[in-house]
Amino acid sequence: MPGNRARILVLHPVLDVLDYRVPHGMQVEPGSIVVVPIGPRQFVGVVWEEERLPGEFVGDNRLRNILAVADAPPIPASVRRLVEWTANYYLAPHSAVLHMALRSTAALEGAPTVVEYRATGTVPDRITPQRAQALERIGERQGLVRELATIAEVSEGVIRGLVKVGAIEAVTVSTDTPYPLPDPLFAPPELSQQQADVASILRQAVGARAFQPFLLDGVTGSGKTEVYFEAIAAALAEGRQTLVLLPEIALTEPFLTRFTARFGCEPVAWHSDLRQSQRRRAWRAIASGEALVTVGARSALFLPYPNLGLIVVDEAHETSFKQEEGVHYHARDVAVMRGKFAQCPVVLASATPAIETRHQVELGRYEELKLPGRYGAAELPAIEAIDLLAEPPERGRWLSPRLVKAVEETLGKGEQSLLFLNRRGYAPLTLCRHCGHRFQCPNCTAWMVEHRLIARLSCHHCGHTIPAPEMCPECKSEDTLVACGPGVERIADEVSALFPEARTAIVTSDTLWSPARAAEFVQRMEHGAIDIVIGTQLITKGYHFPNLTLVGVVDADLGLDGGDLRAAERTFQQIMQVAGRAGRGEKPGKVYIQTHAPGAAVMQALVSGDSEAFYAAETEARRYADAPPFGRYAAIIVSSEDRVAAEEVARMIGRSAPQLDEMHVFGPAPAPLAMLRGRHRFRLLVHARRAFDVQDVIREWLGGLSWGPKVRVSVDIDPYSFL
Ligand code: ADP
Ligand code: ZN
Ligand code: ZN
Repeated sequence: MPGNRARILVLHPVLDVLDYRVPHGMQVEPGSIVVVPIGPRQFVGVVWEEERLPGEFVGDNRLRNILAVADAPPIPASVRRLVEWTANYYLAPHSAVLHMALRSTAALEGAPTVVEYRATGTVPDRITPQRAQALERIGERQGLVRELATIAEVSEGVIRGLVKVGAIEAVTVSTDTPYPLPDPLFAPPELSQQQADVASILRQAVGARAFQPFLLDGVTGSGKTEVYFEAIAAALAEGRQTLVLLPEIALTEPFLTRFTARFGCEPVAWHSDLRQSQRRRAWRAIASGEALVTVGARSALFLPYPNLGLIVVDEAHETSFKQEEGVHYHARDVAVMRGKFAQCPVVLASATPAIETRHQVELGRYEELKLPGRYGAAELPAIEAIDLLAEPPERGRWLSPRLVKAVEETLGKGEQSLLFLNRRGYAPLTLCRHCGHRFQCPNCTAWMVEHRLIARLSCHHCGHTIPAPEMCPECKSEDTLVACGPGVERIADEVSALFPEARTAIVTSDTLWSPARAAEFVQRMEHGAIDIVIGTQLITKGYHFPNLTLVGVVDADLGLDGGDLRAAERTFQQIMQVAGRAGRGEKPGKVYIQTHAPGAAVMQALVSGDSEAFYAAETEARRYADAPPFGRYAAIIVSSEDRVAAEEVARMIGRSAPQLDEMHVFGPAPAPLAMLRGRHRFRLLVHARRAFDVQDVIREWLGGLSWGPKVRVSVDIDPYSFL
């Protein structure tokens, strides 16, 4: 650090790189977390290596003082390198990436306790509907007044009123209670020979303390989790930290249970559902190195682990690892870079690895470890296609006779069935039979989806919701509105009509919106309290229900339309995953996929089980089209509430596109979702060769242009959504 000045990366959206004076007696080093002034306000920042973060030089006489150093360990160099890499690769502001590492500002303040609130069980004398709602929704939960108000959907005043009358009480929570240490020897399993071989390679890699990416490619139920647990045991034995990334927080709960069975206590969980005090406690334990195993959603990737010995990305093919808001990063790719900077192995576990990942194996960059068979006696289920044209469901129904019969037989045997349809709600479209009016979201280019259980129509893009209409707003007729197409609720109705005795459960993000609800569902499944599950993709991964023997895919074609370059691959992965829920115990499983296109390559691959042929053909098609992983895309999305302004800026960007042989620019054109949350959207698609530094070109291209405050331009490198 030259003299007594320091370059700081500040958590400020615009003024992110600034120099400050280090006052006499203050000690800082690169990584130190500090508080600095900007104008009259104070911001958190991190001391950075000056040469790595270009900024405007400010004379010594104009420097302001750093105000304070936070009582927290410095951000490690490996995380600083990760922040730089991510910002560069995804064309994001450094401060936006750093923000993900400093996700608990409370953790930077000293206070070791917070005051939280919880219900006492006393029912107040005066109970208003609001108070009743608050007490019901809060249940056993505990949190800040603000957090409880959010959970209960009431004002903070209502919560405070309940405190006054003694229905809610204050509790002091220590936020620095240490976490229990997982015990690597608590309950190690007896591994099969195949599992033991793979586990020993992973243990060695952990011991080597060097960067090494692995693809752990094992069919569903082969014991991938058990095997990477052995790698975690090795890291624990060395006192090093492990990060396990899961694609959704709904999977955290079953993971915690399994982890506890193996290691004797829960790991540290990191996800968006944490209370502020939990977040603070987790962040401090992670940053101090005390938290040895962290499991979390993608945001856990940027936390400042000082002593990382292993990264696991479970269900690594999942597209939910791609962040679609703020910094558009792909957690799978960033995880590999994280391992590189931290010098530790990275395990990508999947039964259906992404083509991008397989390609890295082919290039020799990732080492592939295979578990080709299910553990123990379990066999992979047989998959059969049902041609919906040849064997159509009855009128107004969605399940074909063969699938209905299979459900009936499964019920008869006392086993469980799963019907998969990746669509929430009752029906994706409501229209008027009389005048043809369709209910569309006023903010988005999307239909309003009927949710009959709560009697509402709602937009799945922006959340706009209206009460279920009683008449057509256009022609004012009554009884002319019809629901078109099925969602899971409609399938559940059909199931109830067919099997009135059967106990059913709908599993979607509407019904399993919290880890507690997910845990409750798992319990009911395990205790045989459910016969038929009707679910969306939420149910396709992670779960292990030995008595579930039948899977029916209601509409296998659903993911195929939309023109997405990964549509076939995604359909294959999704159906393989949901099929993987069947027959995981001793009883064999059976899978039916309903389709209008039984001849399509992806359906044939699913039925024949020849995934290699499918992957080979898909990969060839990508190579031919210069699509990822052979070529590269970047999307530039221009949006504004003012349609004309958005279109003008998009055109201007298009006109100034650099003319290069290695790169083509398509558009601008209205994005397929031409309106989203009230903003009109235009898209330019950049297509380039893999080796070409498209980021640099885009940075320079857009850097030379300007547009008004009404227009937002965002760049998505390696986009997954083509909407
Ligand atoms: P995957 O992650 O590949 O889908 P899992 O790790 O979930 O597979 O294993 C499937 C089931 O088999 C789980 O119930 C798991 O506990 C069990 N299992 C796998 N390997 C072993 C083993 N070596 N000993 C005992 N049970 C095992
Ligand atoms: Zn009408
Ligand atoms: Zn909408």
